[in-house]
Amino acid sequence: MTTPTPTKRPTDAAHLDDIDPPRELLTLPWIDPHNHAHTLSWADRERYALAGCRSMLMVASGYHWTPYKPVEADDVRFLWDDAINRRAAIERNHFFEAKLGLGVHTGVRIENPDELLTAMDAYCALDEVVAVGETGVVPSQHVSAWGVDEQQAVVQAQMALARDHDLPVILHTPNTSTDAKRPYRDGLGVTPGYEKNAGLGADPVLDGENPALDAVRLDVEAMRDAGLDDDRVVASHADANNTAYLMEETDCYLSYTIGHSWLIGVDAADVADAIDEYGSDRILIDTDCANVLRTDPYAVKRAIFELYRYGIDPEDIRNVVLENPREVFGFETE
Ligand SMILES: [Zn+2]
Repeated sequence: MTTPTPTKRPTDAAHLDDIDPPRELLTLPWIDPHNHAHTLSWADRERYALAGCRSMLMVASGYHWTPYKPVEADDVRFLWDDAINRRAAIERNHFFEAKLGLGVHTGVRIENPDELLTAMDAYCALDEVVAVGETGVVPSQHVSAWGVDEQQAVVQAQMALARDHDLPVILHTPNTSTDAKRPYRDGLGVTPGYEKNAGLGADPVLDGENPALDAVRLDVEAMRDAGLDDDRVVASHADANNTAYLMEETDCYLSYTIGHSWLIGVDAADVADAIDEYGSDRILIDTDCANVLRTDPYAVKRAIFELYRYGIDPEDIRNVVLENPREVFGFETE
């Protein structure tokens, strides 16, 4: 059948199949359940608002922001207080709901962690604190090594606090980063996209064949020992190395970090594969955006479209970016 057309000869437009664009995705509300937006610029936070972010969980726990090494308990406590100090202003400036996750990250050894764990109880009672973390055993530290048993004890103590306060835990699971095509010249750090003095990396404390997965197994052991239910744990930085284990041997949620794919190699295609294999009920995505590395505040919005292109149904996309994080963390977003 030929359609009358004013074009001189047929164009691509004469050969189109009917498609039904998923316009609802243009305005689908979304939540970023793991970022460090309180360390970003005002303009970056505005990008979240412009892209339709309704709620976010700003995580204050990272050693990246403690200037002194070795790190003392008070240094981490300052991070918590800084986030508490600025959270409401961020909400008032940008209108999305901003909540907090407070925790002790074991990426660097902390001199007197018990002080922090004792103080943390009262912080967990605050309305704006909706999660404990990020935390989780890591195979090697920055600056000074921290024994595996001590790390696991610190993780478990936080899980016990989370259980007592009925809060979920954001687990930091280590990634197996993709091999660079070519290393950068000595002295430039991990890459120019990451402000970290790689020369200060301590010797690994986990040295099996798959230390990144062994770390996650230790976290799960701590979770069970702490009496924290699986569905109160969100394993962030889920990847090909830990997805099968977490999906098949736990009932934890998995959050795929897609805001710095250049570093850890995880993107919307991995999320789509996981949804195909396991369904969308236990899957989230997060940006992990922070000022210390090259990150993308538009990552979730882009992933919403990319997941559709990869064949994922709008209903599953909605689960992953809105329903699941709302359910786990209790966000108010409609
Ligand atoms: Zn993070």
